[in-house]
Amino acid sequence: MDYKIKDVKMKDEFKICPSCGYKDGFHSMFKKESGITKWLFICPSCHEVFNIGFTV
Ligand SMILES: [Zn+2]
Repeated sequence: MDYKIKDVKMKDEFKICPSCGYKDGFHSMFKKESGITKWLFICPSCHEVFNIGFTV
């Protein structure tokens, strides 16, 4: 599946989708990139993938 990862700066919380306004949080996914595992968030409503800079 092809998808775009959007980089987002987290403020006090990351709960509302910046793309569609969905308010109830995100699904998680993990992606390995050159030895680093990124923790990404998927909006359950519009399915955009967000990176707020978390790694595992
Ligand atoms: Zn959304």
